[in-house]
Amino acid sequence: MQKRGKVNPNHCSFCGRSKDDVMILISGMEAQICETCVEKAEEIIEQELSRPEGEGKAAPKSSKFSGPVHLIPPRDIKTFLDDYIIGQDDAKKVLAVAVYNHYKRLQELAKGRAENDDVEIEKSNVLFVGQTGTGKTLLAKTIAKLLNVPFAIVDATVFTEAGYVGEDVESILARLLQVCDYDVTAAERGIVYIDEIDKIARKQDNPSITRDVSGEGVQQAMLKMLEGAEVLVPPQGGRKHPEQKLVKVNTQNILFICGGAFDGIDKVIARRVNTQVIGYGNKNRDIEFDRDNLLQYVTSQDVKHYGLIPELVGRMPVVVHLDPLDLDALRQILTQPRNALLRQYKKLFSLEGIELDIQPDAIDFIAEKALEYQLGARGLRSLCEAILTDAMFDLPTSTGGSKKLTVDREYAAEKLERSRVGRLKAA
Ligand code: ADP
Repeated sequence: MQKRGKVNPNHCSFCGRSKDDVMILISGMEAQICETCVEKAEEIIEQELSRPEGEGKAAPKSSKFSGPVHLIPPRDIKTFLDDYIIGQDDAKKVLAVAVYNHYKRLQELAKGRAENDDVEIEKSNVLFVGQTGTGKTLLAKTIAKLLNVPFAIVDATVFTEAGYVGEDVESILARLLQVCDYDVTAAERGIVYIDEIDKIARKQDNPSITRDVSGEGVQQAMLKMLEGAEVLVPPQGGRKHPEQKLVKVNTQNILFICGGAFDGIDKVIARRVNTQVIGYGNKNRDIEFDRDNLLQYVTSQDVKHYGLIPELVGRMPVVVHLDPLDLDALRQILTQPRNALLRQYKKLFSLEGIELDIQPDAIDFIAEKALEYQLGARGLRSLCEAILTDAMFDLPTSTGGSKKLTVDREYAAEKLERSRVGRLKAA
């Protein structure tokens, strides 16, 4: 093998100084390096590693999400979701397929296969339509946990158009970066859940508003991100300012799941469904529609009518509904999921050496009240807190006596009545 230059064993191969002019000269296989050059090299390495992505080559960082995505077939994804989420079979199925296809495509890209293909598979962001507290966030969060990808939840209502008070849309990505310790590669294949997307709908009934601060402008800004773009993100979130270092994040492969209650969309759906049924020669004429749960027929078209701009709706090709939770579902939510509320309370009590026995009639009572308060499953926790706080306050310090607490309907009703939650509702 031919050497590139003459190696002088008495000189630093980097700065050329002789052995006599340096303190230490370290010899390698075919070169030497002095202490000053070692220090310089270390400095360069440090600078490179701490350089934000926007300024040049990415500094590879690792995080707990650096490993491969844990991808399993859609059927298995659904089975996993079943352990944590009650009901919502349609949403689970549709989400499982969308997520599977999305990450499958990423795996193919990583193997370098898809690039030369004529058929490019586009990602399918998902839109959940369902009342509050029906499991939209929980679904998105649980699937991210399964896949081991970074996950961030943001609320669409905090965003405003550039120049107005509020957060820039880019801060969505700042949250994602924070979750994965600024591991940009992991963030770029993460999942973002955008809640309350319905709240930035265009206000149709108020055409006089020329600057729709909370509506269309934000939708436009969000569109860019959902489409897939290179976005410069202020790492700490908030608003951008001129001297700030920015991190470049490509949103092409980030999966966006948006969710909203879309209050009143049932009227839009009803109108469409009625027109379809009445329409001359329509095949659907004999179809029975379940008018108590019109949300199950929701389509992109309805969402557009509701006030989301067509381009944004177009970027969320998968639209799926969540069912309202009935008494039975609420009852199951209390007891069945892996980390069901009542299991959590039982564990808490057992840590104090107390057995918590919740009678079926108490479970019925809590579910009935949650239904009455119309908060979906969200109400369950505050109800349980109201019923069990006294016991959690007293029992750890009480000496002797029973080490078992039995909660029946009567106990639950009495505690709730005396609590803030109960009083609030009575007012
Ligand atoms: P939203 O639809 O408003 O996003 P969330 O997913 O945040 O509702 O639900 C709030 C809480 O209610 C969850 O943390 C979970 O404990 C419970 N919950 C809601 N829906 C379900 C469900 N279908 N199965 C199990 N728990 C649920």
